[in-house]
Amino acid sequence: MSFSSIGPGDDVEAWCTRCRMTLNHRVIAVVGCDIKRVHCLTCGSDHKYYPPRGSAASNEKTSRVTKTSGDVKAPKTSADRAASRARGEWNTFMSQMPPGTVVRPYKITESYAAAEYIDHPLFGRGRIVEVVGSDKIEVAFEEGRKVLLCNRKPT
Ligand SMILES: [Zn+2]
Repeated sequence: MSFSSIGPGDDVEAWCTRCRMTLNHRVIAVVGCDIKRVHCLTCGSDHKYYPPRGSAASNEKTSRVTKTSGDVKAPKTSADRAASRARGEWNTFMSQMPPGTVVRPYKITESYAAAEYIDHPLFGRGRIVEVVGSDKIEVAFEEGRKVLLCNRKPT
């Protein structure tokens, strides 16, 4: 693939590692004729350039048709696929944890901010993806995203 006409500041379609969709990205760095880094115009993250992928629907159709019964590692149901996606997201978040990050134990009475790392007694370590209203947080755990209560006064 050649991108000779593309340079930093141009918009391209690329796979977003965070949104997990093919979206418009702004080119940050080009080496030779290859796009190296892009900025997602949807979620605002900077990451390596990955070429656009086909839609999830067509991928699913293909995998259903070509599914082999012998491969035990391949996720078989949509629940399995969702679980492996969740684990992938969690792995990414854990690998992005800056050195020296304080992982706070989860307490319903505490307040939290997006991108904080917490330790939940049941679900383990997670990263807060979103603060929902004044007393809920959406957290990515290894087994998937959960909405937890927070900022509640003890009764
Ligand atoms: Zn994105």
